[in-house]
Amino acid sequence: MRDRRLVRRLSAWFDGHARPLPWRDAPPGERDPYRVLVSELMLQQTQVSRVAERFPRFLARFPTLRALAEADEAEVLAAWSGMGYYRRAKLLHSAARAAAEHHDGRLPPDAADLRAMPGIGRYTAGAIASLAHGRAEPAVDGNAVRVLARLEAREGRTGETGLDRWAWARAGALVEAASDEGLTAGGLNEAIMELGATVCTPRNPSCDACPLAGDCVGRAAGVAASIPAPRRRAAKRPLYCLSLRATDGRGRLLVEQRGEAGLWASMWQAPTIERSDRAPTPREARARLGIGSLNAAETFIHETTHRTVHFRVFEVGDPPAKLGPGAGCAWRTRAQVETLALSTPQRRILLGRG
Ligand code: SF4
Repeated sequence: MRDRRLVRRLSAWFDGHARPLPWRDAPPGERDPYRVLVSELMLQQTQVSRVAERFPRFLARFPTLRALAEADEAEVLAAWSGMGYYRRAKLLHSAARAAAEHHDGRLPPDAADLRAMPGIGRYTAGAIASLAHGRAEPAVDGNAVRVLARLEAREGRTGETGLDRWAWARAGALVEAASDEGLTAGGLNEAIMELGATVCTPRNPSCDACPLAGDCVGRAAGVAASIPAPRRRAAKRPLYCLSLRATDGRGRLLVEQRGEAGLWASMWQAPTIERSDRAPTPREARARLGIGSLNAAETFIHETTHRTVHFRVFEVGDPPAKLGPGAGCAWRTRAQVETLALSTPQRRILLGRG
């Protein structure tokens, strides 16, 4: 009885409080699977407001799964530029290609089949199966774990396997209750996540505005705000980068492409030397590219999830003609650089904006 009451209240609340977002263009359970895939991958590590801005542009550039599968990876990375965590763009591209190769250019309805595709984990598979294909599957993201843990005063730490496993089982039970009430799993999943994003927020949950307040064990026990316990974080490792900003007589910029693995894989940058143990010296930069004078331009710090990256930027005075393809670098016009996949710090270095 309690579960059926919970899902009814969630559904009624979501009907009146769902934020109008560009990927919510059809009722849950009836959406385009490709749009669900793109939005879910974008939302994994980027704020909703930024995704709301970038999602329509990405869809305009790659309107279908097939169009994405046929694109070059460089084009996909460039379209993703500015959103960070570029590994997601590569995985999205790989998923599109796997769909073209194995599923006739479509995303299959079955969560297990979806999970076998690159870049599609348990959560994304549940989201596509329930939001696009109308399947009775749970989809549990960090917001949902928090809501469910508080609702039942379940102890545990964010990111802990035990808590996640419990939350998936609890969400599965609520999906069954939704089905008994004639409600869709997609609608329920989205309602729980929306509640976590807007009401049952990490700090200071707005319990007075919550449709589940009367049934919330965590609230009744006065422990809601401290559940779940914060994630244990490993200390960030430093990375020291020395970047060279070089312009030729025609106003073109010198760029190079990063390797295919690791941080900012395959993206473009100003020629950069990096070390984990200490800051590279201008002498190392001069030796690498055979350049004469370097003028200090700026220093700044960029934080990633696992790294604190210290940048020192130098202007290259009078770059020698031998710089170019032979040195693993290329001259590109500013307009061309604008279309390359650049990390946020390299966008700042090359184009003057982060
Ligand atoms: Fe979260 Fe408060 Fe609602 Fe419980 S009553 S689910 S703690 S917002």
